Amino acid sequence: MLNKKENNLERSWVEIDLDAFRSNLKALKTFLKSEQGFIQVVKADAYGHGAWEITQAALKEGATALGVANLEEGKLLRIEGCKAPILILSPSLIDEIPGILEYKLIPTVNELSFAQALVSFCAKQKVKCPISLKFDSGMHRSGALEKDFAELWSYCQNAAELEVKSVFSHFASSESDPEFSKMQEERFKQVLKKNKVQAEWIHIANSSALINDLGSSGNLCRLGILSYGVYTHPSQKEKIELKPVMTFKSTVILIKDIPKGATVGYNQTWKAHRKTRYAVIPVGYADGYDFLLSNKGKVLIAGKLCPVIGKVSMDMICVDITDAPEIQYGTEVILLGNGHNDIRVENLVSLYNGSSYELLCQVGRRAKRYYYEKGRLVTAAPLSRRDFVSSDYPNSKLNQIIQSAIAQRINSEEMSELIFREILRVFFYNQDRDIRYRKDFRHHILFIESSDKDYWKAETTLSFSKTLQRDFFLVACANSDKALKEYFKRNEVEYRWLMDGNFQLNPSAFQLSSVKVNDIELETRINFKSEAMEIRCSHPALKNLIGQEVRYEINTLTLYPKSSHQLSVFITELTHGVQISFSYPETLKQIECVPFFAGQNKYPKITTSKNIITVTTKPEEWVFPQSGVVFAY
Ligand SMILES: *Cc1c(COP(=O)(O)O)cnc(C)c1O
Repeated sequence: MLNKKENNLERSWVEIDLDAFRSNLKALKTFLKSEQGFIQVVKADAYGHGAWEITQAALKEGATALGVANLEEGKLLRIEGCKAPILILSPSLIDEIPGILEYKLIPTVNELSFAQALVSFCAKQKVKCPISLKFDSGMHRSGALEKDFAELWSYCQNAAELEVKSVFSHFASSESDPEFSKMQEERFKQVLKKNKVQAEWIHIANSSALINDLGSSGNLCRLGILSYGVYTHPSQKEKIELKPVMTFKSTVILIKDIPKGATVGYNQTWKAHRKTRYAVIPVGYADGYDFLLSNKGKVLIAGKLCPVIGKVSMDMICVDITDAPEIQYGTEVILLGNGHNDIRVENLVSLYNGSSYELLCQVGRRAKRYYYEKGRLVTAAPLSRRDFVSSDYPNSKLNQIIQSAIAQRINSEEMSELIFREILRVFFYNQDRDIRYRKDFRHHILFIESSDKDYWKAETTLSFSKTLQRDFFLVACANSDKALKEYFKRNEVEYRWLMDGNFQLNPSAFQLSSVKVNDIELETRINFKSEAMEIRCSHPALKNLIGQEVRYEINTLTLYPKSSHQLSVFITELTHGVQISFSYPETLKQIECVPFFAGQNKYPKITTSKNIITVTTKPEEWVFPQSGVVFAY
C-alpha cells in the first residue's frame, strides 16, 4: 500500500506507483529472448501516466528507445532533457519535418512521398536523418503494403540523406487472435527476407504479443499497456502478474439520505428501491470518469465497493453507500486502479465495452499526479496537464512566467527549485530571444600602482554574450549612490561604476579604453549629467545585429581609492555562467573574497593563485541579479 499523501485538499488526483511499473517491466522482460531489448511506448503522455517520469523509470529498466505518437510529444521529452532515441510511431506531416530534425526524432516512413520530402529537406540542411520504415503486415492502418514496400525500402536504403535505423510492423489483435497474428508475423519475415532488409532495429511485437510468444523474430518489442499494469485478455493472468500503475482517487464531498422511490441524477435513471444513503464524489466525465459508467461503475470507499447510481455528470457522480455507514465527509475514494479487482481499468471498461487505453488517457489528461517509489511520494506533476511547449506562448507571457518563477523561488525554496529548473530549461532550450540574460559573463579587475599614492590604477574588462536590443547602449559613471541606483533601473545601461567622491566626473578619472560588440570597435560619446557621466556606445553596423546574440566587451581605466579596502562586483542581470577575477599587486596581502550568490548554487568555486582570485560558477549554472562578490583588502 502506498502512503497517503499528506494534503488531501484536492478534489481528485492520480497516484502513479513507479515500483509497480518497474515490477511489470521486470516481469515482461522475462519473456524477451536473450538478444531482445525493448522500446518503451510513452505516447499520449505515457497512456496518461506522465511521459517524463515513465521514461526515466523505463530507461532504468534498460529501455533501448522510446515510442511517441507525434513530433510534439517527442519535442517535449527532448526539452525536458531526454537523450534516448525517440521513435515517432505514427505518420508525420511533411510540415513537421523541420521539427523532427531539430529535435533528433526518428520518424516513421510509410510511403515514398514522405521519404522524398524528408530527403529534400535533409539535402538542403546537409544532415542525415535516421528513419523507421513501417510495413503493413495486415492490420491495414498505417505502413506500406507489400506491393509498395520494395520500392520504398530501396529508395530509403539508397538515399544518402536517410539511415534506415528501424523496420517494423504492428499486430492487429495480438491479445486475441494468434492465428491472424502468426500470419502477420510470417508476412513481415517474408518481406524482410525477400528485400534483404537490414536495420539495427527490427520489431513487430507490442506488449500483448510478447507474452503470447509472438514477435520473437525481431530484436526489440514495443511495450505499452501491459507495462502500465493492465491486462488486455483474461488469459494473460495465468502468464504474468501485472500491478496497476495508475490509481485514480477522490474524496467524499457530500452525503445524503433519500427515501425509497426517489430518483438520483439527470433524467431520473436510477430509483431507490429502499431508503438510501448516497455520497457525492467530485469527479465526472470532464475528469475522465467515463459517462458510460453511469449506473454501471463501482468505486471503492473504506474497502467497500459502492455502485455508481444515476448518470455520470460533468463533474460529479453519486454512489450508493447505504451499506457502509462508516463513510463520512472526506473519506478517500478509489475510482480506478489498485485496491480491488472490480476497479481495475480492464474490468471497469468491460462494463461498457470500452477501451482500457482510452480510459487511462482520459483520466491522465486532467488529474494531478503523485509519483510514488518504494512507498514514498517522490514527485508531483502540475495540475494543468496540457503539455507545455514554450513556442506556443508569446514572449510577454513567457517573461511573466519566468519572473513569477523567480519570485517564487525566493519565497519558497523547495517548490520553486522545481519550477525554476523546469522553466529555465524549457525556456532557454528554445533560446527565447526576448528574455534578456547574459551568458558566459567574465569580469576581470586589475589593480596596479598609479602615480598617485592614494589610488590604485584599476583596469576592468567585462565581457558577456547577450541578445542585442538596440543599436547603442550606455556605460554610466555616477558620483553618488543615489545616481548609481537610477542606472540600475535602466536596461539600456550595460555597465555602471561608482566614482570616488574626490574626483571630478571627467574622462581622465574614468575612461572607456575600448568598447566592442563582436569585435566591432564602438564609437563613444560622453554626455555629462549633474551626478553622472553617461557614455553612449554605438556603431552604425549594430543595426543589423539587433535580435542576435552578440559578445560585448567593455574595457575601462579608472582610479580606485586605497582607503576603501574593498571592491564589490555586482551581477545585475540573470546570468548563465559567471567568472569574476581580481588581480592585485604584490603589496596587497591577505585578500578576502566573499561571494553572495543567489541562484542554483550559492557557493561558487573560489580559486586563488599568485596575486589573483577567481570566482567561478559552472557554465550551465544560473545566477540571479543582486548576486556579486566583495574583495576586501
Ligand atoms: C501503441 C503502440 C504500441 C504499444 O502497444 P501496447 O498494446 O500498448 O503494448 C506498440 N506499437 C505501436 C506502433 C503502437 O502505436
